[in-house]
Amino acid sequence: MRESDDASKLAHPHRAQTGWSGCCHNLESFKKRWLGERVPHPDPVTMLRAARLRVTRPRIAVLAALHRHPHADTDTLAEAARADLGTVSTQAVYDVLRAFTESGLVRRIEPAGSPARFEIRVGDNHHHVICRHCGAIADVDCAVGERPCLDASETHGFVIDEAEVIYWGLCPSCARPDPSS
Ligand SMILES: [Zn+2]
Ligand SMILES: [Zn+2]
Ligand SMILES: [Zn+2]
Repeated sequence: MRESDDASKLAHPHRAQTGWSGCCHNLESFKKRWLGERVPHPDPVTMLRAARLRVTRPRIAVLAALHRHPHADTDTLAEAARADLGTVSTQAVYDVLRAFTESGLVRRIEPAGSPARFEIRVGDNHHHVICRHCGAIADVDCAVGERPCLDASETHGFVIDEAEVIYWGLCPSCARPDPSS
């Protein structure tokens, strides 16, 4: 982990919506990067320990990447982790994401026609709106309250733990009329 993250990295477009307000005790760079964030989230070491996962540098880097890139695919997260760690193989990132998903630390979403995406907003069964044109993804709270989609009108005796609702459409940039036409 480099201590000197440059300003352009800190000014990531997603920074306003993501990140954690707590800080890692061991890594000052995390403190610098996430200080002042509004979204409350424990630091990566706490998150890993709470999930009973061993604390490793690749896992910390992937968690940081997930904060910076909500709903990112494996390649994007691997690239972001590499920016922090220097070298880390895509396979290693894949393994980290699988451990995160299995432990419930991370939610995996699989929109049709897209590689799997990952996010650290878990446990609330929120939904997603996806742009058909560019693949942009945004969170959508349940339309009817807290996890109501899990209360199916008929369960057929199944124990339901997830309701997959995806809103498809065009994002604001893609919906804007093309000025050249
Ligand atoms: Zn779009
Ligand atoms: Zn989401
Ligand atoms: Zn819902």
